[in-house]
Amino acid sequence: MYDFLIVGAGFSGSVLAERLAAAGKKILLVDKRSHIGGNAFDRTNEHGILIHQYGPHIFHTNSTEVFEYLSRFTAFRPYEHRVLASVDGKLLPIPINLDTVNGLYGWRLSSEELERFFVSVAEPRSVVRTSEDVIVSKVGRSLYEKFFRGYTRKQWGLDPSELDASVIARIPVRTDRDDRYFGDKHQAMPADGYTCMFENMIDHKNISTVLGVDYRNIADDVHYRTMIYTGPVDDYFDCCYGKLPYRSLRFQHETLDTPLHQPCAVINHPNDHAYTRVTEFKHLTGQEGPRTSIVYEFPQDDGDPYYPIPRAENTEIYQRYQTLTERTHEVLFCGRLGTYKYYNMDQVVAQALALAARIVGVNRQELLALSA
Ligand code: FAD
Ligand code: UDP
Repeated sequence: MYDFLIVGAGFSGSVLAERLAAAGKKILLVDKRSHIGGNAFDRTNEHGILIHQYGPHIFHTNSTEVFEYLSRFTAFRPYEHRVLASVDGKLLPIPINLDTVNGLYGWRLSSEELERFFVSVAEPRSVVRTSEDVIVSKVGRSLYEKFFRGYTRKQWGLDPSELDASVIARIPVRTDRDDRYFGDKHQAMPADGYTCMFENMIDHKNISTVLGVDYRNIADDVHYRTMIYTGPVDDYFDCCYGKLPYRSLRFQHETLDTPLHQPCAVINHPNDHAYTRVTEFKHLTGQEGPRTSIVYEFPQDDGDPYYPIPRAENTEIYQRYQTLTERTHEVLFCGRLGTYKYYNMDQVVAQALALAARIVGVNRQELLALSA
């Protein structure tokens, strides 16, 4: 008899399993994939290089609580992520900063001059509603078209004017020379990879793990009190209100016979090619060696659901499912797919910790104080 059947061994399912096990609950953790870690799964490939199977995962958070919690299961290697965008035949820093604009136009503006330039080209918006509004209201149309419009159309299959402001608002605009992709207080990579961290997290006598099995194929044969579901929420309800749209990706992994392929971990291609970005893993992991592994991301509609698509009409569909989840007392929903939110890893961890605290009936500090 299990207290919880947890569907999905990604961040949300694993954090819930770990904290509920610490609270003395018996857990069956099931994933239909053959591995743990969900989309954060990494592995050593046939060339001995640590790769992220489902695209680059860079850990960053402003939550010291989340960072310290994960640090129980892994050492972290300091890493600040930097990205270049290939625009007009040049490799330029993204997020847009002083060097981006000076490099693009061959100027030598100061930060103050750049601020004035942005004001002169910005298209004011009384309400910033869409992702297009976010950028054109800050840096004008030309930079928007060079760096954002094409990338977004490729990535989402939608124009930025059709997407919530929150999507492109993830990317700041700077007038100084800070070229880090993220501004968070904690930026680091798990020293031995994500999968190793997940192994440590779910290594507990109260947790049994079953991989390569859809929960539907075992749910009737297993005795449990409550299910926690972290798969796609519409899927759970057999798409009774219609399919929620997700964006998928095709990952093309390659290993090259050269020690390093590109100057930084990620190069974005807003305007050329069918892929959006190329990631070289050795920059993320600090690994050294004669060969290097990279991955191209080709966005597509069909395939594994990777991205909930933030826009009003999808939120409306999700809200109908959310109402159903509130009425389905024997199942709790969590995670990026389970709550249809474009969440980063740290947000998913925070959400899972909050749910675990609610289940156990304690506050967050008390939950975190339970010893494994
Ligand atoms: P998932 O990791 O999707 O786990 C859900 C699990 O449920 C899956 O393993 C799935 O197989 C399983 N499942 C679904 N249905 C069933 C079923 N019927 N039966 C059994 N199992 C089932 N975040 C960052 O913070 N930084 C980044 O740099 C970053 N980069 C990303 C890059 C890409 C390409 C993608 C797609 C995401 C990225 N993310 C990043 C986001 C990050 O992947 C997610 O926030 C996080 O992995 C979500 O964890 P989760 O447990 O909610 O979902
Ligand atoms: N984006 C863009 N150009 C870029 C980088 C990002 O237009 O060079 C937009 C695009 O819509 C993208 C979103 O900003 O989907 C969020 O970017 P992020 O790098 O956070 O995406 P993720 O890593 O989640 O795929």
